[in-house]
This record gives sequence, structure tokens and C-alpha cells, in this order.
Amino acid sequence: MPAAPRARSGAQPPEPLRPQRPLAQAARDAARQVPVAGLGLDSAAVRLRMVQRLRGDGIACEPVLQALARVERHRFVDTALATQAYEDTSLPIGHGQTISKPSVVARMLALLHDSECARAQGTLGRVLEIGSGCGYQAALLSLLSRSVLSIERLRPLHEKARQHLHGWRQGDVRLIHGDGRLGHAPWAPYDHIVAAAGGEAIPEAWLEQLAVGGRLVAPMQDGRGGGQVLVVVDRTASGLREQRLGAVHFVPLKSGRE
Ligand code: SAH
Repeated sequence: MPAAPRARSGAQPPEPLRPQRPLAQAARDAARQVPVAGLGLDSAAVRLRMVQRLRGDGIACEPVLQALARVERHRFVDTALATQAYEDTSLPIGHGQTISKPSVVARMLALLHDSECARAQGTLGRVLEIGSGCGYQAALLSLLSRSVLSIERLRPLHEKARQHLHGWRQGDVRLIHGDGRLGHAPWAPYDHIVAAAGGEAIPEAWLEQLAVGGRLVAPMQDGRGGGQVLVVVDRTASGLREQRLGAVHFVPLKSGRE
């Protein structure tokens, strides 16, 4: 903290006007250019304000709001963007991809929390995430679930998520570099499947790997010439039930890995 300026005694002459800042003043100003860690982003208060806004916007799922209050979103984005981390905005994470807006993430996680098996257990069970990106949503999921398996097709982002989640001890999170359209059959079935990228249709593998009582939440092309919509699929004992919610805008679900 810079020292508070001393009160000037009335006896001193007024400071002369100078076209440039005196050196000492410039040094003091430079000292005030504090790094991100000093901007208050580390404080829980800034996340609580974001959570209050989400609550005001109608997100009512307390466990999800608590997870959003805990995970430091600014640590998952580039330092240059850190000051925008708690605004309700998507942000670039490199390689043409984006981290979704907090309100969209909150809505998707709240939908998972409202699934039959989460309601029965009070928590999310085994989660499959497609599109690890920078690892932010995987971190949130790990606070909300028994285990998370997250797949990313772009190696640099897979590595970035791994770096961001290094030492993350909140839950069981596994990251895989691969094509998430195939899901991950060896560990199926999953109680929850959530995708951060949208394709023409929901891949067959996801539906096959969804447990009974489980729920899938993903963006998908509407197919009627419109853009993407958010799709919720529940697997009940008697089969699959699909709901289409409002319009969304996610990056495309692509095939293969790079
Ligand atoms: N949940 C992420 C959001 C990342 S954006 C976060 O919190 O940062 C969506 C991601 O999906 C991108 O990184 C993109 O590369 C990835 N993606 C697109 N198609 C994919 C596929 N078939 N398999 C795995 N990841 C895919």
C-alpha cells in the first residue's frame, strides 16, 4: 500500500506547475501499478458479487453458486484478461476457443444438478465433460461431483487445462486428449454428460454412455435453419426424453484430435 500523502503545512509554497511528472511522482505512480494478484481478484468478495448477480438473474441452485464462489476464474484466463474474469462474458482462451460466460456455465451445471440421480443423491455422480478448454468448468464440476472425466481434442488446450488443474485436490478430475464425440466407453456409464461445443446432432456414443437416471446437457444445431439450442436429454427407465431449451452460442464440436 502506498503511504498516505502527508498534510501540507500552510507555510510551504505551492508546487510549481510542471509539464512532466517529477521523477519521484512517476516512481510513486509506477508503484501503484499493482499486479493482478493485488487487484482484489484473489478475494472471495469479487466472486461473491458475481454470484449475487447470477442469483439476481434467476440461478437458484445453491451448490452451483457455492462452487462459482470458490473457483478463481481469473487463474484460468490469460493475465491480460484477468480483470474481466468476473464479468458475465465469454473470454478467449487461445486456439480460437472461448471459456463460456459464467451465467451459461451456471445454467448448465444447475440443469445437471436437477437430474433424477443428482436429486436422489444431493450431488453429481460420475461426470463426462466434452471440451476441457482451460479447465475452469472441470474445476467447478470437481467440487460438485464424485468424479470428472474431461476430454479435449486440442493438445495445447489439454495441456493448459492440465497446468491449471495441477495440484487441484478438490475432487477426482481426469483429463484426456482425444475426440470427445466418442465419449469414453471404458469408464461408462456416466450419470452426467456436459458438452461445451455443439454439433449437428448429439453423438450416439454419448447417449449410449448415459446411465439410467442420468442427464446430458449440450448445445446442438436446431436443424430448422436456426442457430444452436441447448438440449437436455434424460435417460429414464423407459428410454430417452429430450427437451430443447433456449438459443445458445458455443464453439463447434469438431471431429478428431489435433
Ligand atoms: N469448458 C471449457 C470450455 C471450452 S470451449 C472451459 O471451461 O474452458 C469448448 C472446447 O471444446 C474447446 O476447447 C474445443 O477445442 C473443444 N472441443 C470441440 N470439439 C471437441 C471434441 N470433439 N472433443 C473434445 N473437445 C472438443
